[in-house]
Formats: sequence, C-alpha cells, structure tokens
Amino acid sequence: MYPSNTIFPVYCRECWYSDKWNPMIYGIDYNFSKPFFEQFQELSKIVPRFGIFQRNVINSDYSNMVGESRNVYLSISIVLGSENIFYSWGVDKSFNIFDSHSIKESDSLYENIECEKNYNCQYLILSRNCMNSYFLIDCINCNNCMFSFNLRNKRFYIYNKQYSRENYFNEIKKLNLGSRKSRESLIYEFEIIKKQAIYRFANIIKSIKSTGDNLLNVKNCINCFNVHDAENLKNIYRAFLQKDSMDIDYAGKGELMYEYITGALNDYNVKFSYSAFDMVQNVEYIESCISSSNLFGCISIKNKENIILNKQYTKEEYEALVPKIIQHMNDMPYVDKKGRIYKYGEFFPAELSSFAYNETIAQEYFPLTKEEVLEQGYKWADREARNYKIEIENKDIPDHIKDVAEDIENKVIACEHGGKCKDQCTEAFKIIHEELSFYKRMNIPLPRLCPNCRHYQRLKQRNPLKLWHRRCQCAGGKSDNGIYANTISHLHGDGHCPIEFETSYAPDRPEIVYCEKCYQQEVY
Ligand SMILES: [Zn+2]
Ligand SMILES: [Zn+2]
Ligand SMILES: [Zn+2]
Repeated sequence: MYPSNTIFPVYCRECWYSDKWNPMIYGIDYNFSKPFFEQFQELSKIVPRFGIFQRNVINSDYSNMVGESRNVYLSISIVLGSENIFYSWGVDKSFNIFDSHSIKESDSLYENIECEKNYNCQYLILSRNCMNSYFLIDCINCNNCMFSFNLRNKRFYIYNKQYSRENYFNEIKKLNLGSRKSRESLIYEFEIIKKQAIYRFANIIKSIKSTGDNLLNVKNCINCFNVHDAENLKNIYRAFLQKDSMDIDYAGKGELMYEYITGALNDYNVKFSYSAFDMVQNVEYIESCISSSNLFGCISIKNKENIILNKQYTKEEYEALVPKIIQHMNDMPYVDKKGRIYKYGEFFPAELSSFAYNETIAQEYFPLTKEEVLEQGYKWADREARNYKIEIENKDIPDHIKDVAEDIENKVIACEHGGKCKDQCTEAFKIIHEELSFYKRMNIPLPRLCPNCRHYQRLKQRNPLKLWHRRCQCAGGKSDNGIYANTISHLHGDGHCPIEFETSYAPDRPEIVYCEKCYQQEVY
C-alpha cells in the first residue's frame, strides 16, 4: 500500500511478523524540548512497516485490509472467513463474490450492493435472503425474480408481476444476459425501475435507538454507517462487534476505541491510533502494533508492554512518564504548516500521514481537486505514467461470454475510460483464471472497465456518509412526486405524513423516501 517513494522501510508480511528484526532498536528518549508529534515523525521516518494490511490470510497478495480470509483479489476490507472475493469492498463471511459492495453472508454474487444472505444473484441492491435473481431493489426472501422492487417472499416475478415458472424462464432466455450490449440496456432499464420503488428512510435492520445507514443488529448507534452487531457507538463507519466507541472506521471486535482508523481486532481502550492489529490494549498514538499493552507513540511494536516512542520502560516509569508527556503535548503543541494546532486529544496531524490525500479513501467520500488538497496543506499524488502495451483494444473485447476463448487470460486489455475519467482509472486490466470461470459459469460478459472504474461506478450508487433531516414523502394517497401510489390507506389518513427523520438520501435525490411506518404499511 505504500508508494515506491515512501521514506521508511517497507517489509513483506512474513518479514514484518518474524523475529528477525527488532522494532525496539529504533526507540528514542522522550524529549521535552520539542513537540510530541515532531518526535513521533522522526520515529515514523525509520521504523519498518508491513507492506500490506493482512491478518491470517491465504493467497491474497493483491488485497489490502483482509483478515481471516483466503483467495481475495483486488478487494478491500474483506473479513470473517470470506473466500474467493474479487474486485469488491466490505465483504463479511461470504464466498465467490465479484464486483460487489458491502456484502454479508452471501455466495455467488455479481454486482450486489448493500446485501445480506443472497445466493446466486446479479445486480441486487438493498436486498436480503434472495436467490437466483437479477436486478432487484429492496427485495427480501425472493427466488427467481427480476426487475422488481419492494417485493417480499415472491417467486417468478418480473416487473413486480407474477409469472408462471415456464414463462419466467422463457423471459430470462430472451434477456441474452451473456451479451454486454444487452446487459447495458438492462442496466439502463434497472435505473428506471429504481425510481419507482419506495425507499425506507434508512437501511436499519433489527436495531434500536440508532441513526445512520446500513445498520444491522445494533443498539444506541448514532450517526453510524455500515455497522453491524454493535452497541453504544457514535460517528462510526464500517465496524462490527464494537462497543462503547466513537469516531472510528474499519474496526472489528473492540471496546473503548476513540479516534481510530483501520483494522482492529480484540482491542481495548485504543485512542488516536492507526492499525491496532490484534490484542492491543491501553494504547495512545500508535501505528501498526500487535499483541501489546501500555504503548504511547509507538510504531510496529509486537508482544510488548510499557513502551514509549519504541523504548522500553518499567511499569512504574511508564505510568509516571505518560501524564508528563500529555501535559507537555498541551504546553508545547504541534503546529502544522497551515497553523493548525494539535494538542493531546487530537488524531495525528494530516501532514504526518504516509499517504497523499488522493491515495486514501478520503478521496472517495470527500473528493477534492489537486489545488484544494494542496491549499489545505495535504499531499497530492500525481498520476503514474503507465505505458501499458495493450494487447486487446476495448472495442475488440468479445460481446458475448460464449465467444471468449481461454487464451484471453492475463492479456492486457484497454479500459474503456482510457485514464480520462476521475475514477483513478488504471487504463488497462486483465482477466484472471478464476474470474473467467466465474463469468462463464454465471453467463456474465467480460467487463469493459478496469477494476477501479468499476469500483467508482458502484460508489456512485451508494449514499454519502451524511444525514439530512427530512420529512416523509408520503402525501397520503401517493408519494410527493406522484410516482408511487400507496396500496392501502395509512395510519395518518389522507393528509401528508408528518413524520421526520434523519436520512442519507439528500433532499435533491430522486428516490421516494418514506418513514418507517409508511414504508412498513406498503411493503410488508
Ligand atoms: Zn479504468
Ligand atoms: Zn410516513
Ligand atoms: Zn403514509
């Protein structure tokens, strides 16, 4: 994950985990004549880091942030025993997932977004417990359905209408799903269907007293997004099995975590830190540490206690020195180039980051131009020159999967965007063996875009990490925009529903957003 111009040494996973090197030799004495973050930065320039964030992983050399999983390829944040995951983001306990985003306990999916417990499905959004289905939005317990929305417990539905089994399969054949051209027109059709559905104000399932979006089995979670099996959280993105934590992202099992980013497991009382790998307790300002406790300002520490700036102390010395450092951080704060002041209690200054702004996920959620990034004092990474020798031009990719020969594997194929979009296009891509077998088995035509461009296409379909206070769009008999006609009369009668809520659907979006009550009356 570190670019080639990175200043500190980068080790492969095996070397980093091994006993062949000692992070303690880089230890420095705390110096009360300069700010803490300056000293941390000195340490940061010399201590080796692992090249890629992986924990108990097999055969996944090209994926970052993977834990307890195997055969993961060009994917991010794949955990909880997942297997065979390709070109996807945020997958938990799932198998054979391609080009999908935020998936739990599923198998054999292609282009699913925010889905749980689906099997053999393509282009499903906000759907659960569905099988053998295509192009569904907000459907639950459906088998052999397509081009439908808001369905519950249905079989053989097309355009929200019942078909006989025989007619259903005849219709499927007509779709010619193996052809990219037909698929593109079906994707366009799906866009129209999406506008007819009603949307629950938030995708919050089996949860209480919580706000945010994409929450499952949570309690007292406020302003949280993509969180499951958790309680008492605030301002959290992508976490599970978390308790009593605030302002964190990408964190598994942990408790009392605050101002924390990326890749936690079995952690307790972790503050202002980045990568508390596994079994880390009572630490502040650490980066990439594992199985340790009582750390302050440490990098790449393994199996140690009572360490400050990678230097060993006794328990008594540690407990005496830490309060003095905290006091010193407040008395002599770090001031960055833009004059921003960092005292104790703030996360690491952005200018200490090993990454440029546009190399991080920040660019996906809060995209800025190069000028804006530099203006704010962050780093920007310019596009790499690629110079790929294209072996297959984009227009020469076979339209139908049945016409694709095995020898296409590992050829350099041009991305349709040719590096001209703003989606971190890599200009070219390859089809690997497992991928081609999946496409053949599932009758999926070859993609036309590189994995990055495909990822950004999915990101455009996902709501931002932001809540707006809005009113239910149920106007009585119909939705505010007149597109959706209610099927029964609601508890609030013929007048407009008065209920207000926090939703991640911005007011100018086309989706028809209903409150929980109106939605439940229509959909169940
Ligand atoms: Zn591309
Ligand atoms: Zn309502
Ligand atoms: Zn209503």
